[in-house]
Parts: sequence; C-alpha cells; structure tokens
Amino acid sequence: MHQFRMENGELWVEEVPVEELAERYGTPLYVYSARTVEEHYDRLVEAWKGLNPMILYAVKANSNRAILELLAARGSGFDLVSGGELFRVLRAGGDPQKCTFAGVGKTRREIQEALEAGVLALIVESEQELLRIEEVAGRLGCRAPVALRINPEVAPGTHPKIATAVKESKFGIPYSAALAVYERAASSPRLQIKGVQMHLGSQITRMEPFEEALDRMVPLVSELKRRYGISFFDLGGGFGVVYEEALASGKREWWEEQATPPATPRMLAERLEGKLASLDVRIFLEPGRLLVGNAGILVTEVQYVKELEGGKEIVIVDAGMNDLMRPALYGAFHEVVPLRDRGAGYKLLDVAGPICESGDFFARNRWLPALRQGDRIAIMTAGAYGFSMACQYNSRPRAAEVMVRGREVRVVRLRETYQDLVRGERGWQKEDARLDGGLAD
Ligand SMILES: *Cc1c(COP(=O)(O)O)cnc(C)c1O
Repeated sequence: MHQFRMENGELWVEEVPVEELAERYGTPLYVYSARTVEEHYDRLVEAWKGLNPMILYAVKANSNRAILELLAARGSGFDLVSGGELFRVLRAGGDPQKCTFAGVGKTRREIQEALEAGVLALIVESEQELLRIEEVAGRLGCRAPVALRINPEVAPGTHPKIATAVKESKFGIPYSAALAVYERAASSPRLQIKGVQMHLGSQITRMEPFEEALDRMVPLVSELKRRYGISFFDLGGGFGVVYEEALASGKREWWEEQATPPATPRMLAERLEGKLASLDVRIFLEPGRLLVGNAGILVTEVQYVKELEGGKEIVIVDAGMNDLMRPALYGAFHEVVPLRDRGAGYKLLDVAGPICESGDFFARNRWLPALRQGDRIAIMTAGAYGFSMACQYNSRPRAAEVMVRGREVRVVRLRETYQDLVRGERGWQKEDARLDGGLAD
C-alpha cells in the first residue's frame, strides 16, 4: 500500500532510512515516496479497468512539481481549481487537453486563462458563472467547452468541512435546476456542452454515498446524453485513505481484522460498474488524497518535553499547524511514529507544535513510545492537504520537501528562508513605495 516501513526499529522510505534524510535536510521536512504515488495510480487504473476511466489528479491535494510530473508521465490528467494550479500543471508538462477547471469562484482572468490553455472543460457551478464564461468566450472569439457540476444532494458521512454535496452546499447546481441550466447552455453559440460532473466531498470510505448519488445521477446522465450527446460523466473525487495505523494498514492482516474495512478502489469500482457501464460516456475520476495521502510524511524533531501533573507529557516539536493544518482544522487523526524506536516503553503523550494557538496539536492523549529532546518523529499520511495547505503563520518559513525513489533522493522544494517571508512586502517609506510598480500580480 505504501513504501514506508519499520525495519529493526527504524523507519524507512523505499530504500532510505528517514533519519538520514532528517540529518541531511533538517526538520520540519516533508518526505514523499515516488513509487507509492505511482503504485496508487496504477492500482486505481487497474481497479477500474473495466470502464477505462480518465484519471484527473486533484492538484489541490499536493501541487509539488515533482508529483505533477510523475503523474503526467503516467498519463494522468488534472483537476484544477485555480489559475495558479493551471500555471503549475502547464509548467510541469501536464496536458491541458486532459484538464478540467472547476471551482465556485472563477474570475474572468481564470476563465480566460483556462480557455487560452485549451482545457478539456470548465466545470460550471452556477448559472451566473455560465453567463460569465459565455461573455469571456465571446470576447476571445471561441466556443467554451463546459460541463455542469450537479449537486446530487447526498450526505457522504464525512466531516462537515469536507462534505460538498449536501443541499445547503455552496458547490454545484441544484439537482432540480440541472435541465434548465443545461438548456440555457445549449442555447448559446459560445458554449459547447461536453459532460456532467459531481463531487461528494472528501475522505469518503464507504460505498453507499456513491451508490446513492449514482441512483440520482445516472438517469440524468442518460437524458443529457440523449439531448446533447455529452461525452463524459465525471464522478469527482473524495476516495478516502486509512489514517489510523498507517503502517499496519499496509498489511493484509490489518484489513482482515477490521469490522468494516474502508472500501478499496477495486471494491468501489465493482460496486459501481454495473450502474455506469450502460451509459456509453467516458467516466472521469478526480482522486486527490487517494493518490498522494499515504505517499508522504512530515518529519519533525522534539524540542522540549514538558511534564504535566499526573505524569502526562507534552512533546513540543518543530513542526506546527502552519506546516500541517489538518489536525487543527478538521480534528484529523495522523499516526505518529518515532524514526528510531529506542524500546524505552510507552507513555501517554500530547504532541504539539510551537505556534501560539491552543489548537496547534498533532496528537492528544496518545500512547506513544517515550520521546526525549532531539528525537525525531514522523507524522504519517501527510502527503495530501499537508504542504499544499501550509502557510507562514507566526512568520515560519515553510518546510523543505524531498522525494525518494529507491535509493535516490531529490529536494523537490527548498526550505524557505527569512527573505521568502518578506518577499513582495514594502514599508511605508517613499523609497519602498517607488518599488511598488503598480498592481501586484
Ligand atoms: C477536492 C476535490 C477533489 C479531490 O478530493 P480528494 O478527497 O482529495 O479525492 C476532486 N474534485 C473536486 C471538485 C474537488 O473539489
């Protein structure tokens, strides 16, 4: 399942001890396994091969150039949600013909950039947006390829902050309005109807939400095929990964021990294939987390150990919520593993970052191997929504990222410096104001 493992009490990534990377590149440090990303991509293709879907990697999960490059080399397309992501994908050699451009708040500039790049389709989230795309296409003298994002109105049973297809959601066009908005699109010579899209949310580990959504969407897709000859049905992303016991979950026994094991891509494909096979349109999938989640870890070093009354200890590390926001933002669970287990027994621990926020924790009340100052730990399953959500809060330069393939190691993003913190910033003095040069870009 992934290429991180404990061997003789030491954590390895592919053929490299993680401790070596921490020594060489410092902490906090993101470490990615190239083979894990590739294996996940290949396994997804294999699981769905009956339908031969097009895979569009959701760039927002991890937008590092090295990740985009290796997926592009595998033939992956990309699901984009901003002009910045389009810029990154083109720079990494991605094929715009295999890109969809989604997002509820596309600006005129972003629409223009997407049309000029020649994306496969703009995924439209409202009628107003449709009118704006029409206007921009008119100005450019082209026909804009579009697909509507339809909200199938199902609860995916995931964290409220990552459920996107419930009725009150800001995402997509209400199911009941779908045909009317398609009719509006069809009436425009500036728009070209290409397909239909849905996206239920993220970290979905059960199959029922997808089944329920398809029960609503399949009849609509047939109708759209009949009326407009659409060529694709995009099921979105949201396929969950295992965060608990990230190391154990790579093993067959772990899956067999679970009362309700999380659905694998194969299980989901088998369950949905029947409903989709008759549609005669290409199926698109937009996985983000599934491809990169457990292909990355965040390595951090213990700075201090504070003992509380009652014997509990708080371990303060040099990574914070600015480096990995998921625990603070979603109360998310990440397994914590020492890079070297000294066999000193287990202790009840909190693992906290250095940021001046009481939410800055990676683990709370966890039985973990005893840790002392200078020890290094890995926060597992940090490859998705880790670095891509990182910020410089508390004026902390962002972490370095390295990628490992076999025994080879590459720095795929340099650690930021203090100069990076102030790049573009100007004081109030005249000399500084002159440097401003006009609107920021
Ligand atoms: C975020 C997002 C995805 C990817 O979600 P994952 O949970 O990472 O698979 C796919 N499609 C859309 C439209 C998204 O917003």
